[in-house]
Amino acid sequence: MELDEISIMKEESNQLKLMPLLFVGHGNPMNAIQENAITQGWQKASLTFPKPKSILCISAHWETNGTYVTAAKNPKTIHDFYGFPKELFEVEYPAPGNPELADDTISMLKPNKTEPDTKWGLDHGCWSVLKHFYPQADIPIVQLSLDYRKSPEMHYEIARRLSPLREKGVLIIGSGNIVHNLGLINWQNDQTYDWAVEANDKIKKKILDGSNKELITYKNLGNEMKLAIPTPEHYLPLLYILGLKNEKEEVLFFNEKIELGSISMTSIRIGNNLL
Ligand code: ZN
Repeated sequence: MELDEISIMKEESNQLKLMPLLFVGHGNPMNAIQENAITQGWQKASLTFPKPKSILCISAHWETNGTYVTAAKNPKTIHDFYGFPKELFEVEYPAPGNPELADDTISMLKPNKTEPDTKWGLDHGCWSVLKHFYPQADIPIVQLSLDYRKSPEMHYEIARRLSPLREKGVLIIGSGNIVHNLGLINWQNDQTYDWAVEANDKIKKKILDGSNKELITYKNLGNEMKLAIPTPEHYLPLLYILGLKNEKEEVLFFNEKIELGSISMTSIRIGNNLL
């Protein structure tokens, strides 16, 4: 056997062992306590890959000055929203933390300074989705914050350093929405804006083309992107997932729906030979 063939085989067996990457469009926190087409999409997706040993979640809802990882043994469920029914505030998602994974993450992200945090817990970007993926809350979770001082390019570069976690059974999830304009939500008739569809399609096409550079500099991609991404926090988790994607990995889109005119629920699973 030629050396080339051996290295190809090795690459293939490594691919088999890699955990997938997920980007989840989380949308309305009420999804946590509802059963609908979106939550069913999440449940179905969870059956398409092995149960992870641990989860690292990058949520749109944890923005910080500097980079932090949750390091508590038992992170609390944070109800970081207002004006929702009492029932939603009563939801607990008691998944354990994983201080060891927090330590590993801090080491991997060097020279970027990353600090452990025991005050935050799990925010709804994380638990409202994971409650459907893993209702038993039995998989340890660590959250990684979004440093609001960093450029999209810096977030992308940070993400790339996390790739060894995929070989260790860690599922990395970015939770946001690729089109997210709360100011222009269409409460009346759920009619989707043309610019939202155009931006959503454009982002999907660039993902399939592997045009990550253009997705990092999304502000140059046209006016529809300015409307789709008025603030970066719901888009940036996507850059973490793309930073970790290997060139030939399969991309699968699901939950392809735009809600309330301006919130794309598009979710993405990346990975080969998952089961
Ligand atoms: Zn959100």
